[in-house]
Amino acid sequence: MNPTLHADSAVSQSIIPAGEPWLTEVKAGQTLRILDLEGNQAIDTLFYSATNPRERYDVQRTLRRQGNVYLGAGSVLYSNLGRPMLTITEDTCGRHDTLGGACAQESNTVRYALDTRHMHSCRDNYLRACCHDGRLGKRDISPNINFFMNVPVTPEGGLTFEDGISEAGKYVQLRAEMDVIVLISNCPQLNNPCNGYNPTPAGLLIWD
Ligand SMILES: [Zn+2]
Repeated sequence: MNPTLHADSAVSQSIIPAGEPWLTEVKAGQTLRILDLEGNQAIDTLFYSATNPRERYDVQRTLRRQGNVYLGAGSVLYSNLGRPMLTITEDTCGRHDTLGGACAQESNTVRYALDTRHMHSCRDNYLRACCHDGRLGKRDISPNINFFMNVPVTPEGGLTFEDGISEAGKYVQLRAEMDVIVLISNCPQLNNPCNGYNPTPAGLLIWD
């Protein structure tokens, strides 16, 4: 494992406000750290090749190749063209979901109640960030990673949204294997325990 990097030497440090989207780029060889600043915060994330944004993170290929349904240290994130995009080099949380998907107006009304229709959602966040950036659109929103989110697979093969196993200061660190666009929704969900019913800010640091 690489020695832990210090914030002082980071080339970029950002705070993503609670419930908000974020879009940035990480170059091949750079390291990205995503921080759960206050604990129990799902950080819904998608990755795209910066040179060809039609190349994107591929959940099925990634899980099939690693033979494990959760992501953690050592996981290689593969693209839909079969190329490694990023590698998880450090992980102080221990488990990250990539099966539960991102919350949306549609899933909120099906899972909870019709009057949740107008609540803020990750899908809306993604679309807002995409509109602003211009390289990505609605068709690019594909199955994502939920960093710090606890979605255990039951013995029967079902999914459950459980209270988080993360806590304040836990982080996941990734090395980019290609130039990538990072699209994040700092999940605003209030209807299940993925954010402890209290969405909080997230930290983002990048090192050369
Ligand atoms: Zn969400």
